[in-house]
Formats: sequence, C-alpha cells, structure tokens
Amino acid sequence: MSLLNDILTFNEKFVSEKRYEDYITTKFPDKRLVILTCMDTRLVELVTKAINMKNGDVKIVRNAGAVVSHPFGSIMRSLLLAVYELQADEVLVIGHHDCGMSGLNADNVKSSMKERGISEDTFDTLEYAGINLDEWLTGFSSVEESVAHSVDMIRNHPLMHDEVPVHGLVIDPATGKLDLVASGYETAEE
Ligand SMILES: [Zn+2]
Repeated sequence: MSLLNDILTFNEKFVSEKRYEDYITTKFPDKRLVILTCMDTRLVELVTKAINMKNGDVKIVRNAGAVVSHPFGSIMRSLLLAVYELQADEVLVIGHHDCGMSGLNADNVKSSMKERGISEDTFDTLEYAGINLDEWLTGFSSVEESVAHSVDMIRNHPLMHDEVPVHGLVIDPATGKLDLVASGYETAEE
C-alpha cells in the first residue's frame, strides 16, 4: 500500500522539478537497435550501461528469460513493430547467466500457486480446455541454446525483413560481460 504512495509522491516532485528534462528524446532509437532481454532486476540498468546505450538510443523489450516462445505473441509483435514502425535496423537478444528461467520447473511453480490458494479444480479446468501448463511454465536448460533458439525464430519469422541482422548474446548479471552466441552479420542478406 505504501509503495504506491511513495511512488506517487516522488513522481509529483520529479515532474514539478522538471527532472524529466534529462531524459527528453524521441520514440525512435538513435542507435537504430531493438533489444530483447530478461526482466531480471540485476539487468534493469546494467544491460544498457554495459553496452554504452542511454535513454533514447534503443528500444527494449523484456520478459522472463528473454525468450520468444510464440511466433505470433506480443514479444514477436514488439520486435516487428520496432523494425517496421520505429526504425530499428538490428535486433539483439540478450539472455543472461543465473536466469530464473534456467531450470524453471512447472511443478514447482504450480505448487507455489496451490500454496497461495489456486485450487486443483482450476488446474483441471485449464487442462481440459487444452492449456498445457507444464509446457508453458517450463524454462530452459541452457541459456545459450535458448538465445540461439529465439534468434532463429526471429530470423526465420515470415514477417521479419531478411536484411535485419539478429544477434544473440549472453550477459553476466554481475559484471556485465557479454559473450557472443550468434552474430547476425553472417546470416543477414545485404
Ligand atoms: Zn533472467
């Protein structure tokens, strides 16, 4: 309850003191880049600081694990909009070591839900409706493989432009060090 109040109180000052002026930019990314990365708290600022990007330089799409799990889901739509509507010419997928999606187990997630009061009936109903929660709530075993898979999905998407390089990287959430998994310059058609 008090967190929201703190947020709103701070925000009033932020606006009245015109502290937004440091961040004024446009909706178009100056570095013509869109990044898909993880929602991990350690990466909130680190992921952009570690690659010398500031407010206005890049579009950023985040989810749990930096994964594209559905070719027509909201992540893929965001990447396509960044390319076609918002002037992004390259795509970076940045997964990270020690990710919560690494080794994520559907049974554990379901147990937590049950402990918090989600009933067995609800799980049964969803299952009868054809929703495969075990698949949906499962993470990946290797972040490198997961990044490579997402990169492939983006590159091979029927609506993605052939000339857009799609790169895959893994970041260390402590040091910010990047390791290259896949360079899009080798596959993009010039
Ligand atoms: Zn993560």
